[in-house]
Amino acid sequence: MVILITGGAGFIGSHLSEQLLQQGHQVVCIDNLDEYIYCSALKRENLSTLAQYDNFMFIKGDIRDKAALQQLLVDYQCELVIHLAAYAGVRPSVMEPEKFFEINVNGTLAVLEAMRKAGVRRMIMASSSSVYGNSTARQFKETDAADQPISPYAASKRAAELVAYSYHSLHQFDVTCLRLFTVFGPRQRPEMAIRKFIERIQAEQPIDVYGDGQSIRNYTYISDVVNAFLKAMDKPTGFDVYNIAGPTTTSLLETIEVIEKQVGKQSQRTYKPEQAGDMRQTAADISKAQQELGYFPQVEFEEGISRVIDWMMRESSKQLPIGTYVSGRASS
Ligand code: NAD
Repeated sequence: MVILITGGAGFIGSHLSEQLLQQGHQVVCIDNLDEYIYCSALKRENLSTLAQYDNFMFIKGDIRDKAALQQLLVDYQCELVIHLAAYAGVRPSVMEPEKFFEINVNGTLAVLEAMRKAGVRRMIMASSSSVYGNSTARQFKETDAADQPISPYAASKRAAELVAYSYHSLHQFDVTCLRLFTVFGPRQRPEMAIRKFIERIQAEQPIDVYGDGQSIRNYTYISDVVNAFLKAMDKPTGFDVYNIAGPTTTSLLETIEVIEKQVGKQSQRTYKPEQAGDMRQTAADISKAQQELGYFPQVEFEEGISRVIDWMMRESSKQLPIGTYVSGRASS
């Protein structure tokens, strides 16, 4: 299959591309190597892994350039678009909401419009657990209302789902939205909590703990997320939404304790107020993805943390700007 991946140089995109290439698919990746959330050197490093495959093609470009995107879809005879390009992260979206809407909503609209003109009508897109807002449900279900987002990032991801729905309704697009619950693993964005905690605990530097440490996350290991996208490819639907999450939930304090144990050092914690836009808890009901996609997460949280630590140790010997992130505002 010929697949166009937007944002393929990023964390999730590079892992997914690699897996698709190994399965023999042709992957056309478009990414503008944006510097806003984190530096492009890390994305170039991701691309260097993918460039080893003959069936990989990288085009540096912006998803908002509809004409170029349409041309790409036609030239490569793409059958499916996996749409990952976005600005990800709650806290920077609170600081600069317009940027998030411009990329996440207008960008998604541009991709859909280019697809319509090129005659490509199948999209799998990355959505987010953030769309559920501060729902009081113990576990979020796809049937829960997702109309009270508590950050511009969350609102932009929900808006992107709705724009995609309108293309399903008007133009008979098949769209699958995967609502991903905090993804972690090698190559994860440098501003994400797990990576920062490992780096700082290892270096015996203080870490910031927001709120009372009891906030809950349903962390999902990257290989499980990749697997969810592969499963979704086998199931052309009209329009569908699935929660994609790991096997367990973990509190912020438990997360720190697991990292302390594996790194073999105690953290120095600086407690700070809860951050605007942060959800109190995310916990997924994944029964729909289990039943309809055959998605069953495999990697336990502790095992995932150990794999991230191993990867970070290997990377630190390469002198890459591992802790660099450009905006300076993004955090866990
Ligand atoms: P990432 O920042 O590593 O990857 C996003 C990629 O998109 C980057 O390489 C960036 O350069 C590219 N990009 C941004 N704007 C672009 C534009 N205008 N044109 C072309 N490319 C552009 O982020 P990620 O963590 O890999 O996230 C991928 C997707 O998954 C996003 O849609 C995000 O909202 C979603 N998601 C991620 C998580 C998570 O925990 N990582 C959780 C839920 C949803």
